[in-house]
Amino acid sequence: MSSEICLTSSDSEVPSEPESARAVARRQLRRAAGFVDIDPNVVERLEDPTAVHEVTVPVERDDGTVETYTGYRAQHNSVRGPHKGGLRFHPDVSREECIGLSMWMTWKCAVMDLPFGGAKGGVVVDPTELSADEAERLTRRFTEELRPVIGPNTDIPAPDMGTDAQTMAWIMDAYSMQEGETRPGVVTGKPPVVGGSYGRQEAPGRSVAIVARKTLDYYDRPLSETTVAVQGFGSVGANAARLLDEWGADVVAVSDVNGAIYDPDGLDVGAIPTHEERPGAVTEQPGEVVDNETLLGLDVDLLAPCAVGNVITADTVDDVRADIVVEGANGPTTFEADTVLAERGVPVIPDVLANAGGVTVSYFEWLQDINRRAWSLERVNEELRGEMETAWNAVRDAYERAPEATWRDAAYVVALERLSEAHEARGLWP
Ligand code: NAD
Repeated sequence: MSSEICLTSSDSEVPSEPESARAVARRQLRRAAGFVDIDPNVVERLEDPTAVHEVTVPVERDDGTVETYTGYRAQHNSVRGPHKGGLRFHPDVSREECIGLSMWMTWKCAVMDLPFGGAKGGVVVDPTELSADEAERLTRRFTEELRPVIGPNTDIPAPDMGTDAQTMAWIMDAYSMQEGETRPGVVTGKPPVVGGSYGRQEAPGRSVAIVARKTLDYYDRPLSETTVAVQGFGSVGANAARLLDEWGADVVAVSDVNGAIYDPDGLDVGAIPTHEERPGAVTEQPGEVVDNETLLGLDVDLLAPCAVGNVITADTVDDVRADIVVEGANGPTTFEADTVLAERGVPVIPDVLANAGGVTVSYFEWLQDINRRAWSLERVNEELRGEMETAWNAVRDAYERAPEATWRDAAYVVALERLSEAHEARGLWP
């Protein structure tokens, strides 16, 4: 990699209008390409997805009427292996969003050195308005529409917003019934009883905690003297907070959509029910109730935004007082805020590394399915630790080689170098 920084102004300029996920992903790609000695033809190929499938999904509602929904599957790049990425059921799903998120999956898989490329898809639907039977019919018909383009060796979906292990079990069943044989490897994030992996659900939060520990170590900050604020006490945030607490950190604030609970002496996070266990429980805990914006501005050592995207923005970044930010959610820091934090010297460990435990244990699940042999939880967690530490070390090396790069740039550089080498080795067909 070149240690010369050669960014063009358009790559680093702050956009005046909010951009689509696809535009942001392209901007980040071009910026990262400025740090690497990479063939521009490879960057050109990475700017667009290989394919975007759009399907119409007719579903019979419980009252006998038929409603049609639009579904997408964007497949960005498969130079390193089959496409991999989530399927979301959400009213805001769009073609452009799926493309942008599929690009991020390509970088995430490459940072983790997994033999996958990026994909993302979903259905434009509010899943809270569907009965369980309607959700099952929607999932099965969507699977049938996508069947020609997904499969254990081509494109492997996983849960995302509005979908869960049950959705994956339905997809596996619908696909397997039509293929004439049980094919668990077509999706990951399934229940363990049908080929899911132990530890899959906890994996993104676990990876956030592992990456936070490595980062604190890098900056010579003992975990036992570290205060932590976690926004979002859901699957990612609660697992990250509980592990950091277990390893000796002082978790002083956690939040859910209703607000945050703060105790400067440390919270008993093991006793706080997660969003899934009891929604709304966070603000009923002992401590001072503050709002989510206040949590972002707490004077803590480490801030982990683990709820939703775009929370550290041009409007909120000046309030952030944490010394280190570790991104548990996807895209919590906007481009503008990233620039401000970089100028202030606040390290932001990016989502593509920090929450990549999810796709990494999905990879383990896929291996277990192919081999028809389940791993123990201990083995999953141990292998995850190894993969996260290896990836963190690769990103650290890239960070140290390019003095002007942020941690996000460094992660993209690692991904881009691997993608570029794979493209150059394979060449362009025909
Ligand atoms: P979740 O639904 O389990 O939990 C989300 C938490 O955030 C809940 O506590 C909810 O109350 C809170 N929340 C919702 N809106 C909020 C808001 N506006 N302000 C503050 N808090 C809010 O979700 P999750 O699976 O933990 O996912 C959280 C983030 O992590 C998302 O960005 C997701 O894309 C990302 N992520 C999830 C996984 C995964 O496998 N679960 C993997 C990688 C990344």
